[in-house]
Amino acid sequence: EATIEVTGLRKRFGQTMALDGMSFTVTPGQVTGFVGPNGAGKSTTMRVILGLDAADEGSALVNGRPYQSLRNPLGHIGALLDAAALQPSRTARNHLLWLAHSQGLTAKRVDEVIGLVGLESAARRKAGGYSLGMRQRLGIAAALLGDPPVLMLDEPVNGLDPEGIVWIRGFLRSLAAEGRAVLVSSHLMSELQDTAGHLVVVGRGRVIADTSVAALIAAA
Ligand code: ADP
Ligand code: ADP
Repeated sequence: EATIEVTGLRKRFGQTMALDGMSFTVTPGQVTGFVGPNGAGKSTTMRVILGLDAADEGSALVNGRPYQSLRNPLGHIGALLDAAALQPSRTARNHLLWLAHSQGLTAKRVDEVIGLVGLESAARRKAGGYSLGMRQRLGIAAALLGDPPVLMLDEPVNGLDPEGIVWIRGFLRSLAAEGRAVLVSSHLMSELQDTAGHLVVVGRGRVIADTSVAALIAAA
């Protein structure tokens, strides 16, 4: 089954304990909100899951395996970390074609994901003219190229206009409704409470609360 399983991650940067026993699970069919103040360790956790940072201790598994051991990583997990660094003179479609080609995916799939994120009319324009909202859509299109059962997004609505925020929330819910596991971070609980069915609240590198939103509402 499609999952992310994080167990006992510890990670130190010099004197800073970025992760201090981080453990949680992301399950399919719902959006898991990863909430906590800036500096709580959300991005570091996501980077460890993607194999971009090494943990000092603990494990992070994607569909039961470490990211580095996945033979077809983009078919397992798609990620949107920081707003994509785009070569401004290239079109959005060319960015995706390049990525698809490097992963053995087709131009047909590129046009599918462009449609999924609603970038049809802009995809043949140079990315240099893209707004943040369009760059986020392009990043999400890239994450979806391999049709992965697991998606992970780090602060995807940061800096977006209200229309972009509404779109991303609805889109994440629809990805979860298709049965995917979706992990999305925010430093604001209010950004996630209507989107996530499951909340993992973190502070100082560890989980403070792990609950379904239904249980949270029932207890309030
Ligand atoms: P969040 O995503 O929740 O804001 P981060 O994972 O970015 O938190 O950061 C967790 C802690 O680790 C912070 O104190 C941050 O300053 C520190 N940190 C993260 N990355 C680095 C790095 N490359 N070098 C030094 N410190 C880092
Ligand atoms: P760098 O940040 O060092 O330039 P890359 O961004 O090329 O590295 O990616 C480093 C690793 O992260 C690669 O193994 C790549 O497969 C993975 N990766 C990059 N982007 C994604 C994504 N959207 N979804 C899943 N994995 C990704």
